[in-house]
Amino acid sequence: MQGLMQNTPLTVPMMFRRAERLFGDKSVVTAGRKPADGPAPLQHTTYAAWAERTHRLGGVLDDLGISADGRVATFAWNSARHLELYFAAPGTGRVLHTLNIRLFAEQLTYIVNHASDEVIFVDRTLIGLLWPLVKTFKTVRHIIVMDDTAGAPTAAGGAPAAGGAPEAPELPDDPRIADYEELLAAAGPVDFDVDDENRAAAMCYTSGTTGNPKGVVYSHRSTVLHSMGAMLADGIAVSERDVILPIVPMFHANAWGLAHAAVFAGASLVFPGPDMSPAAIADLIERRRVTVTAGVPTIWMGVLPLLEGRDLSALTRIACGGSAVPKALSEAYRAKIGMPILQAWGMTETSPVATACGQRSTFEGRSEDELADLRSTQGVSLPCVDLRIVEPGSTDELPWDGEASGEIQVRGPWIARDYYDDPRSGESFTDDGWLRTGDVGTITPEGYVRLVDRTKDLIKSGGEWISSVALENEIMSHPAVAEAAVIGIADERWQERPLACVVLKPDATVTEEELLDWLRPKVPRWWVPDGCVFIDEVPKTSVGKFSKKTLRDSYADYKLPVRRDGG
Ligand code: ADP
Repeated sequence: MQGLMQNTPLTVPMMFRRAERLFGDKSVVTAGRKPADGPAPLQHTTYAAWAERTHRLGGVLDDLGISADGRVATFAWNSARHLELYFAAPGTGRVLHTLNIRLFAEQLTYIVNHASDEVIFVDRTLIGLLWPLVKTFKTVRHIIVMDDTAGAPTAAGGAPAAGGAPEAPELPDDPRIADYEELLAAAGPVDFDVDDENRAAAMCYTSGTTGNPKGVVYSHRSTVLHSMGAMLADGIAVSERDVILPIVPMFHANAWGLAHAAVFAGASLVFPGPDMSPAAIADLIERRRVTVTAGVPTIWMGVLPLLEGRDLSALTRIACGGSAVPKALSEAYRAKIGMPILQAWGMTETSPVATACGQRSTFEGRSEDELADLRSTQGVSLPCVDLRIVEPGSTDELPWDGEASGEIQVRGPWIARDYYDDPRSGESFTDDGWLRTGDVGTITPEGYVRLVDRTKDLIKSGGEWISSVALENEIMSHPAVAEAAVIGIADERWQERPLACVVLKPDATVTEEELLDWLRPKVPRWWVPDGCVFIDEVPKTSVGKFSKKTLRDSYADYKLPVRRDGG
């Protein structure tokens, strides 16, 4: 017997229509660059004005002759215009392709050509980065410039805010270049209608530390379901009452789904625009009475010293992921603003949110220290997401006992089942339909995932694994330490030994010996790094994570001192 319920396709236009119909009066604000001596200029619009422009943007895509499922690329900051593209491209059946502005030139060329992008929408302040590559793009016919120096148009045609606008870079004289606002003014509105929920809505390439990036293709259905996941109370709990500031870029795994979820829920949005400086972020949270914000740990490390004396009473969630949230960081937020960080885990392939670390009702009564420890885990899987841990190199499942550690594998309706046109797909998906995440971790009997490392960052010493993440967590809880990354260095006897690369806080001092002595009682004896180097900054990847590959390359010839304690 079959169910007798309607089989309504889950599509991006369904999300769009809800905001258009119900929340026309809600605000979408985009910040400009913050001048040194004052607040950033803000451009205000509403969902009503945004929706009207988004319909016309659909018309622009038609006028430009973009094919029925053509790839529409963006090279842009988080802004209201970027949100127009987020809905106009999939709303007209095309595929939004967000380009990571921080990727290396060769990777951008590869991605644009691999995806066969037909048009790129670029913020004017970023044209200098993009233009030198345009000659390497084989399929791009149009470059549409969004003038983020002049101020976006406001609801009801109000004047853009003055002040703080950066210099407008010269535009090359080229027939492929057109102005976003001019095209929009000339275009007619189109309706959004997509029948097939499995049609591609957007694509995003993983930043891939080795080899070429791999393309993940989100469907309309996966986008809707993932947004609902973000709206769940035990997800990120996005609701109409929220004011959401996505610091995580819209070019990085769809701003972790927050832009879509905000529209679906009717939450107000605040976009940081081009200024991701800690001062600009702290200002925006206070000024716009932000309730939910999200970014990688390095962002929150930068903002932490600027919280003093600010009224952040509206804030209820700081979602953080992308790399492990150090316990010390979360605890520092709890001490300063009375609220720890909400850790979530996922990857481009998982839309990206797969787990979130909410506190279970049955944990009430546990000590603050135990709860802080719990919050340093990646949390439990969202509804619809299945997890398993597997012995590396096999399909044997390991027990959820908080001890057994293996590769985390994941499946569900917003998890990738394949990469776009990529011969490497076989390495990442199991024969029985799970995504191999490349993350290694344990799962407690209650389902809390604790990531130990990425498979490629684990340090193998004398045949046993050392977790670089666990070591970093401990080192970063030393009061003198701002950041630390631990890497494996080749060692004749033990195969690999850990080296700690440490950034000290301004004006703080600690010696190598002091730091290692301090660490000794906290970790197994043979985990204690063999050396510690003090560096000015941990190199970061294009999405703001510690780039251990860069560190490994820099210290490939580093001579570790002779190991004292045995392996
Ligand atoms: P890339 O794989 O290119 O770095 P992603 O942004 O998709 O791009 O990164 C996904 C990876 O980030 C995960 O596989 C995991 O290693 C790491 N990650 C994400 N969230 C967390 C977290 N909360 N704790 C630890 N690692 C995380």
